[in-house]
Amino acid sequence: MVTKRKSVTELPKQYDPKRVEADVIGLWGRDHTYELVKKRKSQGKKFYFLDGPPFPSSDTPHIGTSWNKVIKDTVIRYKRSRGFNVRDQPGYDCHGLPIELAIEEKFCVKSKKEIQSFGLERFVSECRTFAETNAAAMTLAFEDLGVWMDWNKPYMTHHDYYIECDWWGLKQAWSKGLFDHGQRVVHWCPRCETVLSDYEVVLAYTVLRDASIYVKFPLASNPKEYILIWTTTPWTLPSNVAVMVNPNFEYVKVKARDEIYILAKERTAPVQAETGQAFQLLETFPGSKLEGLTYKSPLETLVPLQKNLENAHRVVLSSEYVTLSEGTGCVHTAPGHGEEDYEVGERNKLPVVMLVDDQGRFLPEAGKYAGKPIRDTNSEIIDDLKALGFLFHATEIDHRSPVCWRCKTPLIIRATKQWLIHIAQMKDQFVRQVNSTIWIPQWAGANQFKNWLQGLKDWVISRQRFWGTPLPVWTCNSCGKDRIIGSKQELTENAVSKVELPTLHRPWVDAVKLRCDCGGEMSRVEDIIDVWFESGGASLACLGYPANAAEAKFWWPADFIVEGRDQITAWFFGLLRHGIVTMGKCPYKTVLMHGFALDSQGREMHKSLGNFVTAHEVAEKYGRDAFRYYVLQTTLWEDLQFSWDAIRQYQGDLSTIWNTYVFASTYMSLDRFAPAKISINQLKRNLRAEDRWLLSRTNRVIREVTLLMDNYKIHEAVRKLKEFLVEDLSHTYVRYIRRRTWVETQSKDKLAAYATLYAALKAALCMLTPIIPFLTESIYQHMLRNAEPKHPETVHLLDWPKYEAKWISDSLEEEMRATQELLSSVAELRMAKGLKQRQPVPQILVSSDSTTVKNALRTYSALLREQANSRRLGLAPKRSLSELDDSKRFGKTKFADGELFLDLKLTKSELAEGLARDVVRRMQQMRKEMDLKVDSFVYAYLVAPSKNDAALLKSKHDYIAAEVRAKQLKITAGEIKIRFPYYTKRWQINGTTFEFGLCETSKLLQKGQDETASTTGPR
Ligand SMILES: [Zn+2]
Ligand SMILES: [Zn+2]
Repeated sequence: MVTKRKSVTELPKQYDPKRVEADVIGLWGRDHTYELVKKRKSQGKKFYFLDGPPFPSSDTPHIGTSWNKVIKDTVIRYKRSRGFNVRDQPGYDCHGLPIELAIEEKFCVKSKKEIQSFGLERFVSECRTFAETNAAAMTLAFEDLGVWMDWNKPYMTHHDYYIECDWWGLKQAWSKGLFDHGQRVVHWCPRCETVLSDYEVVLAYTVLRDASIYVKFPLASNPKEYILIWTTTPWTLPSNVAVMVNPNFEYVKVKARDEIYILAKERTAPVQAETGQAFQLLETFPGSKLEGLTYKSPLETLVPLQKNLENAHRVVLSSEYVTLSEGTGCVHTAPGHGEEDYEVGERNKLPVVMLVDDQGRFLPEAGKYAGKPIRDTNSEIIDDLKALGFLFHATEIDHRSPVCWRCKTPLIIRATKQWLIHIAQMKDQFVRQVNSTIWIPQWAGANQFKNWLQGLKDWVISRQRFWGTPLPVWTCNSCGKDRIIGSKQELTENAVSKVELPTLHRPWVDAVKLRCDCGGEMSRVEDIIDVWFESGGASLACLGYPANAAEAKFWWPADFIVEGRDQITAWFFGLLRHGIVTMGKCPYKTVLMHGFALDSQGREMHKSLGNFVTAHEVAEKYGRDAFRYYVLQTTLWEDLQFSWDAIRQYQGDLSTIWNTYVFASTYMSLDRFAPAKISINQLKRNLRAEDRWLLSRTNRVIREVTLLMDNYKIHEAVRKLKEFLVEDLSHTYVRYIRRRTWVETQSKDKLAAYATLYAALKAALCMLTPIIPFLTESIYQHMLRNAEPKHPETVHLLDWPKYEAKWISDSLEEEMRATQELLSSVAELRMAKGLKQRQPVPQILVSSDSTTVKNALRTYSALLREQANSRRLGLAPKRSLSELDDSKRFGKTKFADGELFLDLKLTKSELAEGLARDVVRRMQQMRKEMDLKVDSFVYAYLVAPSKNDAALLKSKHDYIAAEVRAKQLKITAGEIKIRFPYYTKRWQINGTTFEFGLCETSKLLQKGQDETASTTGPR
């Protein structure tokens, strides 16, 4: 059997993303490429990537989520190419209110009560189906973008093993004495009838028009004297128990309309201005003197409860919560409806009055207002105060108010009994853990995250809903004792009677009763757990912990997580809390934070705004690689302002990159270039300066990009690679070596160019692989796979390139920059003098004091002469400078480091060469139009307009014939009509008309019209 020779093969000429990506997807499917790569890398050092699970609340991922997944895929692919054994399990956050709301909407269920009558079993099953269906659809969308994760086994927060880990976590907290229940003032959604977390409260706001009223609280000692308070929530007045003043401010007694008011001195002027009342100052005293002053509730006749409160209706002190920025400096205090009020209330042993039910209506104890929705009662309360003579002034105010981020109902604040984890006292431990975590960018951790931790509060984890992890707390119906269950086994073993649990969800789990030590029966507390506790436990739960402890021992903690900037207060925080509570440390080592994907005007993308674009649409139009390349070059932690124009531009880059490989593959495959047969080191003596320059650039770029990728500065790595491929390779090196690739013989000089270009292209392809996996795979399969015997089945098994420091040369690169500057000065000067680039000139002289320029003239001498198209190019002798300056023979120009002189006096030989080059360029254009292979031969006719031109061209006959690969070239003057089958064309050159005809030799040979070759030689 003959083994096929290994050499570079040919790449399709056109970059067609549709075809490229379809082929690669087919290949990956047939060869199980993902599984293959994963298996081959499974022996490396562990790298635990932890996926932040999206909510599967819709079947179409937001473009920001697709960006997020592409970043993750890039990191995973990079780490694999560095030899790591990467854990790449994706996840979905399947529980929670967004999904419950979608099901409520689907079945027109409007409240918690209606869910009960709809049937809890059916409701929860619908939630599960909804989540699983959407998760499956999202998986397809992510996979389609080339995201290589373990899509067959995503972790799903609603699976029993996951729920068991949540239970285990709470049991840990319980055993450490951190988990119990207590009264807390919480933000509450009266529509969803559940508590919301602090970090959910910051998610959505609306502007509400509310009452703004000044109310008179009559002193118990003198009903004609009042404490003047201000509030925007009249509905909390039935729950008032105290007034706060600041002990450090000055307060006054003032007289107005024969009544006496107490308020802060600094607030008298603004209050007079707002209410139109004139105050007459009676007395000034420090706020501390007001402590203990008692008053009567203005609503005590309408809300009888107010009459029977103990230890209430007195002035208490607070220097932290009473300010002079608004109101009167006397603050209405209702511990049942305000966190600060609650805190001050606890300190002063004030009663907690909370008169609002789960749906936001007044309880029966609210007297006159019982059963009424609280916000609707505001005007009634104002009218009542007015009728009772306790209203000082009423107006309205617009203010920003938090709403439920799922259903947009304005939130209320109320004291409720909740289950919570005590972490408020652990701030130092949290900050210590943040300090030992790597944050990218650094300021996200050092500033934003630490600032957020300053407000650390106890973690209220109970929710009063259905679709979630059930709270594993059973309470004795007789003695009230609580028991925390840590696993399914523990539950079934301790159940009063044998139970079949199809899943650990409500309502099935609600039916399980336990036996208490006292002999009584224990029932489950009906709450479910905050979804952020669930996702916070992902680092352990997805490993099957605690059942599968060996997995966790190997992988935990996570090496890397990456999510959007909104996760500072959410998932980054949730993971940290869970990790500290259960394991005593942060469950991740490195965090990368990215921005939001917005529209071109910087607005959020929403279906309702009509600016919603999906990654799928972008991929359909411009390709998956174009989408990936575009989002990955965006500065990671800044917002991405999506623009179709930008995408088009970036797709252009991909075409340029493709064309660079096409150029190399065309000539290398023609010459059957076999890189494994001859190394750069073997060709060392044949390397030209520009080859050594490219090797320096290549190795420098490898070094820089590796460092950037190791530090997750992916966008900088992408930009560096783009610059390398587009500027260094496509615009520079490829142009410089064109003539070397065009010679027929297998010279060492040509091989040196090939070997250099090959090394650069292969390294670049490797480094591009994590970013644009389709394009790189396609180039690899077509062009490189058979170039070397040891090449693996897929580009994704190539090892990341290693740089060789010996090739990196600062001086070569500096001198190349000087060379390029000289060449662009020459080009400008030629343009100014109307001299074509193709027209050779006798000499170019340079005057400069710069060592770099002088060295460049030596190092890149041959390159400079060729590219400047000058017979001579060198330093001008110092003594002749003034002569050059005056001479009409020279065109001159200044550049940054000196001056440049171009000899304009052309000899016959130079004119002939200029004309010949003009001819060659047009004939090559005709070869392209004829779609000839680069190595096919032609017969050629050339009709010049004059004998003089014909003579000039005849002197360049061999040159022209070689350049256009003509077996025979006839040059004549006058008018010859060239016949079929020649492809003919007329051209204007220097204002006169030439006629050329070309015919592929094989065409005439087939017709038996063998016109024997008169020229041979290089093609
Ligand atoms: Zn709601
Ligand atoms: Zn009991």
